[in-house]
Amino acid sequence: MTNHYQILIVGGGNAGLATAAQLLRKNSNLKIGIIDPASKHYYQPAWTLVGAGIFDIAKTERNQADFIPKNTTWIKEAVTEFKPNENALITNAGKQYSYDYLIVCPGIQLDWAKVKGLKENLGTNNVSCNYDFKSAPYTWEMIKNFKGGTAVFTNPTTPIKCGGAPHKIMYLAVDYWRKQGILDKCNVHYLSGASVIFGVKEYAATLTEVVKKGNIKVHFGVNVNEIDGANKTVYYLEKNAEGVEERKEMKFDICHAVPPQSAPDFIKASPLADAASPFGYVEVNKNTLQHTRFANVFSLGDSTNAPCSKTGAAIRKQVPVVVANLLAVMVSQTATAQYDGYSACPIPTAYGKLMLAEFDYTNTPKMTFPINQAKPNWAMWLLKTKVLPWLYWNKILSGKA
Ligand SMILES: Cc1cc2nc3c(=O)[nH]c(=O)nc-3n(C[C@H](O)[C@H](O)[C@H](O)COP(=O)(O)OP(=O)(O)OC[C@H]3O[C@@H](n4cnc5c(N)ncnc54)[C@H](O)[C@@H]3O)c2cc1C
Repeated sequence: MTNHYQILIVGGGNAGLATAAQLLRKNSNLKIGIIDPASKHYYQPAWTLVGAGIFDIAKTERNQADFIPKNTTWIKEAVTEFKPNENALITNAGKQYSYDYLIVCPGIQLDWAKVKGLKENLGTNNVSCNYDFKSAPYTWEMIKNFKGGTAVFTNPTTPIKCGGAPHKIMYLAVDYWRKQGILDKCNVHYLSGASVIFGVKEYAATLTEVVKKGNIKVHFGVNVNEIDGANKTVYYLEKNAEGVEERKEMKFDICHAVPPQSAPDFIKASPLADAASPFGYVEVNKNTLQHTRFANVFSLGDSTNAPCSKTGAAIRKQVPVVVANLLAVMVSQTATAQYDGYSACPIPTAYGKLMLAEFDYTNTPKMTFPINQAKPNWAMWLLKTKVLPWLYWNKILSGKA
């Protein structure tokens, strides 16, 4: 295997495979290497549906080998270090690879240890998290078996992938309990590190109604930092009226908890990271997605410091921008294609009803369909549960959508 590639892609997830495939559609002669140690590829957006009991977890996992684009070289190793001044990187196999152009997209890191006890309790003691392939099915066990009591849903203080996922599952759970006729016995709490239910006011208005109808008690600006599964207690920091942080606790019968997230540690420690960001993401121009200091480096997906909402929907709009700009830079032109911060968050508000929130960097709605998407409806539910999973495996990863 050669140690030099015209284009090296770090991370063969949603962003990496879609970018490789679209590059090859533009120029089949490109010599592309994809570095990723994982044997499996996951369709993570369906994990919310798994947690709600309406999607088979097995259908969210496929063999990576079946999706690596033909005419690329898959290097099944993990990158440990970047040397952008030498156009090189090092992997866990102790090998050095060099490149003419680099695309960085290894996703986001789940910082489980920042919530003491969370990882240890996952899938047991009525503690679960849809961000984890193994425990998403347990979320459904908890929801289905709940007969009343206190249900706690947490959302961390950091940016995360799919900012809606911590509360999407809560709306579905509440709807399920309503349909079981037990909602009046359910004491539902949302412990959120955010200051609002959703960043775009048109969509927030819909969710505020859903919260009210479900009698959900919302706690904003709190920092959940410990879960004691054996004693069914969640601990969190909350500012009192004087602005002083106090440690509080809440007993639960079931708890769905989401960990804080940040750039993978090998990105944080690298010269590619944005030194000004506490989360260590790759520093890019938020419109061109070109690195601000290394002109032959691009980054997209969950690992960039572009201040968009981190979703697969955002990646669909980022990929053509990276492809156009990289091809331009390769022939000594400037990167002119622009990403406007588009992202989408499909939020189910009940079984069979979904609000498709679409927006950009300005946090204004950017609706695709000729309907008021802030009003949850059945068609968007079908889009999320049937159309998008099919599109992902059959079109998006192969660069056709
Ligand atoms: C519960 C949940 C619900 C979601 N819901 C939605 C939704 O409804 N809509 C939506 O659009 N998005 C949703 N998302 C977000 C979406 O899944 C992510 O934004 C998307 O997968 C990010 O793609 P990525 O390529 O940046 O990272 P990933 O797809 O996570 O891929 C990263 C890849 O990098 C590889 N990698 C990691 N470290 C290294 C290394 N050191 N060297 C080389 N390779 C490495 C990994 O093995 C992996 O293959 C959801 C996510 C979750 C968890």
